Amino acid sequence: MSRAIFLYNTASRQKELFKPIHEGHVGIYVCGPTVYGDAHLGHARPGITYDTLVRLMRSLGLKVRYVRNITDVGHLENDADEGEDKIAKKARLEQLEPMEVVQYYTIRYEEAMKKLGVNPPSIEPRASGHIIEQINLVKQILDNGYAYESNGSVYFDVAKYNKDHRYGVLSGRTLDEMISNTRELDGQSDKHAPYDFALWKKAAPEHIMHWPSPWSEGFPGWHLECSAMSAKYLGEEFDIHGGGMDLLFPHHECELAQNTAARGKGGVHYWMHNNMITINGKKMGKSYGNFITLDELFSGKHPLLQKAYSPMTIRFFILQAHYRSTLDFSNEALQAAEKGLKKLFQAARDLEAIAPAEAAKEAGIAKMYEDIYDALCDDLNTPVALAHMFEAVNIINRAKEKSLQINVADKVLLKKIFTDVLQGILGLADEQAGGASADTIGGLMEIILKERQAAREQKDWAKCDAIRDQLGRLGIRIKDTKEGSEWTLE
Ligand code: ZN
Repeated sequence: MSRAIFLYNTASRQKELFKPIHEGHVGIYVCGPTVYGDAHLGHARPGITYDTLVRLMRSLGLKVRYVRNITDVGHLENDADEGEDKIAKKARLEQLEPMEVVQYYTIRYEEAMKKLGVNPPSIEPRASGHIIEQINLVKQILDNGYAYESNGSVYFDVAKYNKDHRYGVLSGRTLDEMISNTRELDGQSDKHAPYDFALWKKAAPEHIMHWPSPWSEGFPGWHLECSAMSAKYLGEEFDIHGGGMDLLFPHHECELAQNTAARGKGGVHYWMHNNMITINGKKMGKSYGNFITLDELFSGKHPLLQKAYSPMTIRFFILQAHYRSTLDFSNEALQAAEKGLKKLFQAARDLEAIAPAEAAKEAGIAKMYEDIYDALCDDLNTPVALAHMFEAVNIINRAKEKSLQINVADKVLLKKIFTDVLQGILGLADEQAGGASADTIGGLMEIILKERQAAREQKDWAKCDAIRDQLGRLGIRIKDTKEGSEWTLE
């Protein structure tokens, strides 16, 4: 790899040069969905962000092992270790086996991700398949004195841990703040302190998902799975741990504490967090009536949507903002994104028909190409990379209008910008071309239009019209000009 990558590390609160633990190899763990409902906008952003990071790293020659888990047990309705398991509740309401709920929504999630151009992870482990690893981790934490057993449940002893290490270091909280912000225990709780969190919970008689353990028939706490599975597949120390900002506390803070309590080290070298999506300026949530699933976006069937938005429009829209900024969804913004994306792919197709001129001087494409990679390697700055790509669009449009000429080397680089970066790293596909790549469509159109031009020159108007009409039925519009014919996809 010749290029340096810089990443913002949530733990150090600064941008750092990325140095993998093992040269040439990268281990990434990202917290995946809790599969009890349809995938929504909140899943699209981390899905696309870390997919783009993995694509970038692979394009630079790094070998990436990307682990994204599926939470299928232990995620309770509230963070204070109370309430029902989210999946068990859905199973009870719909009279299904919990694993039926898990299977159904896992497939739905994966289908939505595929539509968004998100490549599948290298490993997609499930919490319920790693109960033994989680029990072993609880034993380690108990042995090291950072947890206690209480009526068959095991809790993490936050105060004890905080004496030796600092709890809250990742999210920037202090234990004192947490004490003043948490409710007093009501006397019914098995916990010693309200901020302690469950490592193992004894299952109530009505609880349908449970496993035997040394402490009780029960189930693991939600935070435990990621500490257990990341170590299993990436090692006790690994490069990058990602997830949405909403997971920073308590989930990632607890993961870090568990790792440290069990193994004496946090284990994660770079913590990355993508920011949240708002809808018309408001937080997305079922209670706000603005909860939009990805299927609703793709079909346009939601009262807040004026029309359907294609998966690539969503992907492009998300990449137009930096992953650490908040991003506001609105019909206007999505329609602007749709137009922008069309422009990019039309330019990619037009490029095919532009004949390079031997004598043309450099049009600054080499610098543009470097700037694009520099932006992507600068903490995944996709908006800046895209801004440079629109400069490329301007150059192509000028070349098309013949107000500028480009040389052979520049044409090759322009092509690389669209194939290697736009499609390869940013993962955007030309939906108008039905998934065919821009250069294939562009190349085919060049052949067809040459054929038609020949007919024009022979004044074979019937043939000219027939070609135009046939293309029209395929959604390709032809405009005849003095210099020749132009085409656009409707
Ligand atoms: Zn996690």
